[in-house]
Amino acid sequence: MSETESSPGKHVGDDEKKQEKRARYTRLGISYLIATLISLWLVQVLVMAPANRGEAIPYSAFKAKLADHQLLKVSIGESAITGEMKNPKAGATPQTLPFNTVGAPSPGGDPQLIDALQAAGVTYQFEPPPSGIGTIVLQYVLPLVLIAGFWFVVMAGMGRRGGGGGLSAIFGVGKSKAIEVKPEDITVTYQKDVGGADEAIAELQEIIQFLKAPEQFAKLGGHIPKGVLLVGPPGTGKTLIAKATAGEAHVPFFETSGSEFVEMFVGVGAARVRDMFEQARRVAPAILFIDEIDAIGQARGGALRLGNNEEREQTLNQLLAEIDGFKTDASAPVIIMAATNRPEVLDPALLRAGRFDRQIAIGNPDIIGRAQILRIHSRQIKLAEDFDMDQAARMTAGFSGADLSNAMNEAALFAARRKAEEVTLTDFEAAIERVIAGSEKKSRVMNEQERRTVAYHESGHALVAALVPHGEPVSKISIVPHSRGALGYTLQLPFEDRYLLTLDELKDRIAVMLGGRAAEVVEFATISTGASDDIMKATELARRMVTEFGMSERLGSVRYAGQQMQYLGKMVEDDSQISTETRQVIEAEIQRLVTEQYERAQALLKDHHAALETLARQLLQHETVSGSAVKQALG
Ligand code: ADP
Ligand code: ZN
Ligand code: MG
Repeated sequence: MSETESSPGKHVGDDEKKQEKRARYTRLGISYLIATLISLWLVQVLVMAPANRGEAIPYSAFKAKLADHQLLKVSIGESAITGEMKNPKAGATPQTLPFNTVGAPSPGGDPQLIDALQAAGVTYQFEPPPSGIGTIVLQYVLPLVLIAGFWFVVMAGMGRRGGGGGLSAIFGVGKSKAIEVKPEDITVTYQKDVGGADEAIAELQEIIQFLKAPEQFAKLGGHIPKGVLLVGPPGTGKTLIAKATAGEAHVPFFETSGSEFVEMFVGVGAARVRDMFEQARRVAPAILFIDEIDAIGQARGGALRLGNNEEREQTLNQLLAEIDGFKTDASAPVIIMAATNRPEVLDPALLRAGRFDRQIAIGNPDIIGRAQILRIHSRQIKLAEDFDMDQAARMTAGFSGADLSNAMNEAALFAARRKAEEVTLTDFEAAIERVIAGSEKKSRVMNEQERRTVAYHESGHALVAALVPHGEPVSKISIVPHSRGALGYTLQLPFEDRYLLTLDELKDRIAVMLGGRAAEVVEFATISTGASDDIMKATELARRMVTEFGMSERLGSVRYAGQQMQYLGKMVEDDSQISTETRQVIEAEIQRLVTEQYERAQALLKDHHAALETLARQLLQHETVSGSAVKQALG
């Protein structure tokens, strides 16, 4: 029940996936290294060094054996002498043994050696000096070829999509893996396939207009958009909407995923980014879609991040360069769309103006949206005559589009299992349970009492915001559960950007933050766990007012916040210089500030209890209401 949606760290599933991937890369890296070392060793032993064959003996022993007629055959190379000698153990098999020794250094050398060999009657020969090219091939090129061979085997093994392996894998490393979908192959449209995302669709209209008639846009001197970031929880239709946008604009759609750029070899990702943009520009106007962009777009420079940081950084830099580099040239516009469910980890550079400057939030659908989505996904399903779509939508608060599609499908399976002709609401109810159980609480459906609590809680935020003198206007209230933890939210839109805030304005903010809990107390005379995020924010703000902004009379205009330090790549506060007594005063002041505002919020809501009831009732009925409903409730 928080105003903003930021609870990173709840994506256990995602993190696990990442870790698994990292482990896979590490394992691949190690086996690659071992294979290379073995191959180098083999080359060394088998090809490179005939000199190493047989027993290595000192030159003196060689001369002694020569004098002793122990040698049978000798081959004199540039630096090594190899040959065969009699087995020193008489009668043992084999009778001859190979040997090698290092010959005398060549200028001067051993002038008597040839005479001695001649005299001893040993068969002797000279090895031709290794030809320049031959040596180079043996010593340098062959190992390189082997290394490259292993490299490509590893690369090919990394789950290349499609492709014939072999040669195409070797030459396709830096090639983009984006899949091009021709406009005529895109069958999805907003009207037919997307439900409950009217706001997102409205925002995308401009992009479509632009792609359809870029010249006209340019003539009017309109600001041409470059990048659109779709932000929202999993399964809310981000991928679907991106594709439908290409369908609506009738342009080619390049589909790729952030993880396809993350490779263990530095430079590969960057090459792929370059290639992808080139490909798209060739057929522009086009839409280039990067799904799950957080895989490349993660904030750079975090210390202690293991794994292939360098590669990710290069890839991200290349992406930024490509986005900046191409002017959205009116004759060949490429619009980049990207999707993420973790906007908070994205590198701020990506969100800068002129890059992904359009951000479109897509949330879980409200009751009307859910009914639309259910209709879309029941087109192929035979529903019972009395299947109440609105009732079905009411039962699935908190479901994402993907959950709804899933539930409808499960309902059909249930009906088939009992050999029925039609799908009934009872089948659907059973399916809901299955979907909830299957998605491990990722989607939640609240019971009636919880919904009431959330409705009052959010109404409390909204009313206090409307009642305090400096409250920012409420634009939307919702009790559609969010898969990321918030059970509802109140969106406030400031009139303008604010840089200086007065004491009174900050106090009002705290009152609004605590308005949720205050409403629960006023209505139910009991409190719930739903306010923890609000309490954290209010406390944090009060702490800053006391320790940073000098807004406490008792403590005066002195900074008590600790020194900010960089520690293991994280900002931490060192407040060891603050005395215990002062600390107690700080805590007391924070508590006073927060409590005062909490009581103020309660008083306000008691005075306007009727408005609270009205607003909460509307929320329970419609799940989302706009800011004007707040004004109406207050009369
Ligand atoms: P995301 O990319 O946000 O994780 P997807 O676009 O992959 O979600 O959605 C998965 C599937 O769920 C879609 O193919 C579609 O069948 C269904 N779906 C999701 N959102 C909607 C929606 N708003 N309208 C209709 N179907 C939806
Ligand atoms: Zn709240
Ligand atoms: Mg997706």
